[in-house]
Amino acid sequence: MKAIIIGSGLIGTTSAYFLASRGWEVTVLDRQQGPGLETSFANGSLLTPSMPEPWNAPGSWRVLLASIGRSDSPLKLHLKALPHLGAWGAGFLRNSSPARYERNTVKNLNLALHSLQVLAALRRETGIEYGGTSHGSLRVIRDAAALERAFAWGEKLQAAGGLTFRRLTADDIVAMEPALAPIGSQLAGGIHYPVDEVGNAYKFCVGLAERARQRGVEFRFAAPVDEIEVRQGNVAAVLSGGTRFSADRYIVAAGSYSPILLRELGLDIPVRPAKGYSLTFEHPRLLPPFSLPVCDDDFHAVVVPLEGGIRVAGTAEFTGYDLSLPEARIHNLLTLVRQVLPAGGFERAQAKPWCGLRPMSVDGVPIIGPTPIGNLWINTGHGHLGWTMAAGSGQLLSDLMTGGTPRVNPQAYALARFNGGPLDAGGG
Ligand SMILES: Cc1cc2nc3c(=O)[nH]c(=O)nc-3n(C[C@H](O)[C@H](O)[C@H](O)COP(=O)(O)OP(=O)(O)OC[C@H]3O[C@@H](n4cnc5c(N)ncnc54)[C@H](O)[C@@H]3O)c2cc1C
Repeated sequence: MKAIIIGSGLIGTTSAYFLASRGWEVTVLDRQQGPGLETSFANGSLLTPSMPEPWNAPGSWRVLLASIGRSDSPLKLHLKALPHLGAWGAGFLRNSSPARYERNTVKNLNLALHSLQVLAALRRETGIEYGGTSHGSLRVIRDAAALERAFAWGEKLQAAGGLTFRRLTADDIVAMEPALAPIGSQLAGGIHYPVDEVGNAYKFCVGLAERARQRGVEFRFAAPVDEIEVRQGNVAAVLSGGTRFSADRYIVAAGSYSPILLRELGLDIPVRPAKGYSLTFEHPRLLPPFSLPVCDDDFHAVVVPLEGGIRVAGTAEFTGYDLSLPEARIHNLLTLVRQVLPAGGFERAQAKPWCGLRPMSVDGVPIIGPTPIGNLWINTGHGHLGWTMAAGSGQLLSDLMTGGTPRVNPQAYALARFNGGPLDAGGG
């Protein structure tokens, strides 16, 4: 069987690897010069089954409304983006009911936990190196009531999906991560999630693309797909720069740009871009060295030790496909990393800023599987969890396409869950 995959980010590359492992002949087309150069490039570097919650928590509409016109809000809505959000925006809010939020959280948790097992197997199989560590992550919380809520929610996820965690006092936190000593007195406590991992997503993409190439995958870079040609209900070819590429099956794994490609075919998949930022400090002067990734609940950001450097990432902005890097947002992240690690001496001049567009689905759960167009499949909508879920998503897609037995419930991630329209996500 021949397959063409559009996109070589985390999701397209893992899909290619798994399909090639099952003996398929795979070609990957990407408009960039290499794999992982868009949203998968400088993300938060965290693999976090501990953060399975969609970003439309109950009450998030209040946060969104309050964010209009503010530059320091973690979840931010730009007025100019409103017309593009349309039914998606309404669906995003509708999925923030407590029952839907909880159900969608558990779907993400199941795929995330499974994905880390698949990733561990991939590491053993390929020997791939991507600066990975597996010491878990720390969540620090300043408010005592918020700590109780986080703990109760953790217990719920433990019962529903097997998430493991350990409650910590402020002293425990400082003992585990001495670099946090300067803020120890501000903390009510926190949680350690032993299952979480760290890794450089870009390095992983490059390394896995190389392993996929060794299994026969052909990567064509600088190959923007301009059109997907459909004839009699099936894709006949994809067109890139005047060249036609044909196969038996086609997969769209183009991240936030997937809906643009599919809209031309009359398929409106409920995925929209949610912009986020990161700052990377390659040579931080921090003693004692910082070794455990920290999620700071109050600042809605993560601070992550990565290959001798430190990366801070956060914020979700609904601002369409804008990839500008406003100084105000960079400054927010700088303030934040200074608040978490005040002894770090972080300076703007040393910071490497970056932004990316998370492909955010309307219910916060990825969309993996067939489409109403006969031989067209999709793997997208992973939002803030694309690195966490990449290996499991690539494996799930290839199981579905090759007649293998899926190791997670595929209905939970199927496009068909929106059959009642983009506002619906009742099934699965
Ligand atoms: C600030 C930030 C922090 C994040 N932190 C984390 C984290 O800590 N943990 C985590 O799990 N996730 C995190 N994420 C989310 C994660 O990075 C994304 O979910 C993931 O990268 C999405 O991968 P993808 O392959 O779907 O998309 P992409 O990486 O964007 O890949 C899509 C590919 O499609 C190609 N493409 C698009 N259109 C076309 C076309 N027409 N023709 C040809 N090629 C095309 C692009 O060039 C690109 O290479 C973060 C995201 C951001 C922005």
